[in-house]
Amino acid sequence: MGQGTGIEWTEATWNPVAGCTPISPGCLNCYAARLALRLERMNEAGCQKYCGTAKRHNGRPVFTGRINFDAAALDLPRRWKKGKRIFVNSMSDLFHEAVTDVFIRRVFKVMNECPQHQFQVLTKRPGRARDMADELNWSPNIWMGTSVENAMYTWRIKELVAIKAAHVRFLSCEPLIGPIPKLPLAGIHWVIVGGESGPGARPMEAEWVEQIRDRCLAQRVAFFFKQWGGIRKHETGRSLDRRTWDEFPALECLHKQPL
Ligand code: SF4
Repeated sequence: MGQGTGIEWTEATWNPVAGCTPISPGCLNCYAARLALRLERMNEAGCQKYCGTAKRHNGRPVFTGRINFDAAALDLPRRWKKGKRIFVNSMSDLFHEAVTDVFIRRVFKVMNECPQHQFQVLTKRPGRARDMADELNWSPNIWMGTSVENAMYTWRIKELVAIKAAHVRFLSCEPLIGPIPKLPLAGIHWVIVGGESGPGARPMEAEWVEQIRDRCLAQRVAFFFKQWGGIRKHETGRSLDRRTWDEFPALECLHKQPL
């Protein structure tokens, strides 16, 4: 099922795959696992794909590692005639090891054939995306991103930047759970920062956000501040230095940016 979304940096989600496996500290309070558990319990049309994908472990919702494919959802973007920014697999990771090469190619084919949309593919497994890059068609409407939650995971950026064919490469520093004062930005067009939200949310320091924002400003990289987060994120908001930061990559400039 494709749907509207409350995620500030996108306009719709598209989930031809459901389920995942936690892979790094950023996964600890995975929002998608929490939602998958809820959707499975609702047992409504379109929710069956979440069956068995999540469970409770030590009181937290976690993904079990089971991956379900929803081939019927593949064609949804073709039916959306008005162009949207679409977050691909918000309830999974397209480059999870259990997603077959064949299925990934099918997802890319849909993206290639829907130029009216911008597709935002976000992974914590950029090495597989890099390894497959030569066999995929990187049409200009595909934005490829990786998550970097603290300084231990900046190595993912090297793998992302190696996907030279991607026209837009972006970073999601959410949940930002530690400082990344030297976030490498060469070859990156867009950075999203956000604090963790919901039960058990880990704190994010204002200084960590400002460091990243200032690096983006200095290197002319679009910066999007999604939220402060916390247990009640609507109370903490998304204002930084008395303004919101809702920048997006300047599409017309991308081809000119050197790596
Ligand atoms: S990679 Fe993403 S979807 Fe998968 S468990 Fe981690 S946070 Fe959740």
